[in-house]
Amino acid sequence: MLSQKIADNLKRSSWIRAMFEEGEKLRAIHGSDKVFDFTLGNPDTEPPDSIKNTFKKLVLDDVPGIHRYMNNAGFDDVREAVAEQLQRESGVSLAAGNIVMTCGAAGGLNVVLKTILDPDDEVIVLAPYFVEYLFYIDNHGGKPVIVNTSLENFQPDPRELDAHISPRTKAIIINSPNNPTGVVYREEVLQSMASVLEAKEKKYGRAIYVLSDEPYNKLVYDGARLPQVLKIFKNSFVINSFSKSLSLPGERIGFIAANPAMEDCSRLMDGLVFSNRILGFVNAPSMIQKVVAGSLNEAAPVDQYRKKRDILFEHLVKLGFSCIKPEGAFYLFPKALIPDDVEFARIAQKYNLLLVPGQGFGWPGYFRLAYCVSLQTIENSLPAFEALAKEFSRNS
Ligand code: PLP
Repeated sequence: MLSQKIADNLKRSSWIRAMFEEGEKLRAIHGSDKVFDFTLGNPDTEPPDSIKNTFKKLVLDDVPGIHRYMNNAGFDDVREAVAEQLQRESGVSLAAGNIVMTCGAAGGLNVVLKTILDPDDEVIVLAPYFVEYLFYIDNHGGKPVIVNTSLENFQPDPRELDAHISPRTKAIIINSPNNPTGVVYREEVLQSMASVLEAKEKKYGRAIYVLSDEPYNKLVYDGARLPQVLKIFKNSFVINSFSKSLSLPGERIGFIAANPAMEDCSRLMDGLVFSNRILGFVNAPSMIQKVVAGSLNEAAPVDQYRKKRDILFEHLVKLGFSCIKPEGAFYLFPKALIPDDVEFARIAQKYNLLLVPGQGFGWPGYFRLAYCVSLQTIENSLPAFEALAKEFSRNS
């Protein structure tokens, strides 16, 4: 029999999955080319050739020891390569000893939370949010505290943050470029948040860690600059993966970088490595560690995503949808044409359009479109969006 907690969580687990399953039903009826599924952040692009070539080479070369257990933090040469790359990007001095290779960003977030949380510690989550954060926090005995971003532009609001920090606040999770909004957090906003956190750390006499979840950091458009979290927040961890930038989500590979400026960085590193072990990950999968280390400078398919964003965004705006033009990731987060976003998503299904209600991200009244689908799907879906919008203009 299921535990009560898992049984309860299953009921409210994920709108994304629920909509995907609705899609399976529609696909069985209409055929997959007639169903426009914008539910999953699962890139339809293939990984770059360099990834495939290194994979083949590693298999054919039969490198001795490559399939064995290793240091729970990952291969030293891979950690060193990741540290060098991140040092170049961030301007912060990093070494292999600051890096733990993980099973994706999801694994990395769980490892950090396991390492820092005591029972009932609070973790601030900015809404709209990636819903898995709530489950990850709960996995390790923490309590999520939801803080809304600005209704106008989805940027965090430092005053709201200030108002929600308590003596039990242990961490805040930030995610930029953001899922679901595509918004890139501005440097001055993050600087103000850093001032708020510093003042509260002094007041309560304990660190408040910033967990910067950055799987979309290579998907940035229109010259937007991504602020370097390691420079802005002293007590910070960057959690990243190659799921989105190199289209490798099934391979489960990512990393944690611990800010060397943290007072007890080396103890925290020991904790991260131990947590990676006892959560049962043991170490990140070995072959793919070596593979990504050889492709760290590989560019993400930014131009393809920009084109898809532009087509969909411009079409939606023309149809009267209100939507912020995203500067990153591969999501659009428009306002639904009626206040009830769940009902809106149900009506969209009449046109074989699958979208995720904003409620799934703690933000009712909106919906998310993941445009990491084929260009053909986007182009073929445009009349369906038009028909959907017309249905509401008829009713108003
Ligand atoms: N964080 C965010 C914001 C995501 O959108 C996702 C996946 O969609 C993840 C983390 C998990 O990514 P990974 O595949 O690297 O575990």
